[in-house]
Parts: sequence; C-alpha cells; structure tokens
Amino acid sequence: MAELECSDCGTEIESTDDLERTELPEVEADDSSVSLYGNSDLFLCSGCKKPLGVGRSGSDS
Ligand SMILES: [Zn+2]
Repeated sequence: MAELECSDCGTEIESTDDLERTELPEVEADDSSVSLYGNSDLFLCSGCKKPLGVGRSGSDS
C-alpha cells in the first residue's frame, strides 16, 4: 500500500490513525433520486482537514 501525503500541509498519512474519519451525509432528493455519495466515509487529513479520500482509496499520484 502506497503511503499518502497530504498535498496541502504535507502530513504523511501512514495509517487511518492519521486520518479523521467522518460520515458523509446522505444526499437524497425526493423526486429525482439524486444520490451524491451514498453511504460513504470521508477521510480527512488530521492536520488540515483536507478531504483525502472517500471510502477506499482508488487513485493516487
Ligand atoms: Zn493536510
């Protein structure tokens, strides 16, 4: 697993301990069934709270 580094503050993310995890609010519309994220966890940099990923990390570099 590649290490992650926050591009904003340079905090090295070595494990989920370095991340703040928060649940994304579900976004649902009544009629048009808009769903932006569904049930996902949002991972924030513990240093600057920059969102670094949603759910599992897929892409990097
Ligand atoms: Zn950061």
